Amino acid sequence: MKGLKDCTLNCQLSRRTFLQFCSVIAATLALPSGSVSKIAEAIVNKQKPYVVWLEFSDCAADTEALLRATNPAVENVLLDLISIEYHETIMSPSGAGAEKSLTDVVNQHRGEYLAIVEGAIPTANAGVYCCVSGKTALERAREVCGNARAVIAVGSCASFGGLAAAVPNPTAAVGVKTAVPQANVINLPGCPVNPINLTALLVHYLTFGSFPALDNLSRPLFAYGKRIHDNCERRPHFDAGQFVKHWGDEGHRLGWCLYEMGCKGPQSYMNCPTVRFNQGVSWPVMSGHPCFACAMPDSWDALGPIYSRLPNVKGAGLEAAADTLGLTLVTGAAAGAVTHAAIRLLKSKREKPRHGEPTVETDYYKSSSTSIEKKVHRRIHKKREINP
Ligand code: SF4
Repeated sequence: MKGLKDCTLNCQLSRRTFLQFCSVIAATLALPSGSVSKIAEAIVNKQKPYVVWLEFSDCAADTEALLRATNPAVENVLLDLISIEYHETIMSPSGAGAEKSLTDVVNQHRGEYLAIVEGAIPTANAGVYCCVSGKTALERAREVCGNARAVIAVGSCASFGGLAAAVPNPTAAVGVKTAVPQANVINLPGCPVNPINLTALLVHYLTFGSFPALDNLSRPLFAYGKRIHDNCERRPHFDAGQFVKHWGDEGHRLGWCLYEMGCKGPQSYMNCPTVRFNQGVSWPVMSGHPCFACAMPDSWDALGPIYSRLPNVKGAGLEAAADTLGLTLVTGAAAGAVTHAAIRLLKSKREKPRHGEPTVETDYYKSSSTSIEKKVHRRIHKKREINP
């Protein structure tokens, strides 16, 4: 493949690792395996887009997550995928030089560059609660995001306001889309964003010149299209009604379901269970902590305290209930069979009129057997109605 050698040298990756990286990205994007070569080609040959990274009211966790990502060598490949012109945490220029880097991109590549935003944007009192280089975050967001080809809001604060916007929200913090409604915003919520999702999004843009399909919260479906609860490795325990009741109890040690400890997985949509964090080693629920729906809007307020149980989640212990029902049905059926056999035995004995015996007795057992069978069947049907 033309240029692949140069790329792998620049990225300090072996050819095998580079192609592994392309395969992981293709899998994350749920693309067919044939697209691996297309992705590799795009990374090697396409012009890197200009990117500016802005930080507002945040804890820098998204930057930290990006810099600590090592599988598959994200920081190497990412720096080769895009041309980061401005990033307050990692850039070498400072002061006026740093500001020049930003204004150059905005003025010279208007409508072409990508803006990545981390952190919420305070809007109370004209936005004075977050200022960078003498300008409020709100002013900078309007200027930089308003002129970008697209804006990628990384983390829940930039996407929906996050913790900064939780009640009572004294700075009136909001996400990028609320602060700059005209901007073309793609949300990558999470606390922090998973760097593999950011990388996959950028690779998709580089490969196809467009962004992948989004949901109604402007989140890419490849990363936010499936419910955490449906892909969780603890799900069999939820179905079986096996729940952790106290931190460190036997169920906790055995990896049982964290629903009763406040897990919000049944109401959260993200690919944490499949892509995981830290080289795919683990994710919060796998390590024994409940999901607190960090990727959902207003999760701090709307989904209640972190350790309080979600009400009305259907299906908990369904499998155990099904087993009980099965047992009941089997018991009922067995009882019915036994009754049948007993009745048949009685019938066989009684239906043969003894010499000189009136046939009316046979009729009695017949009617009697019919009512017992009906009773058994009624019980079984009643159970079925209660536990459909
Ligand atoms: S409630 Fe949480 S721990 Fe239990 S199966 Fe669902 S996502 Fe997993």
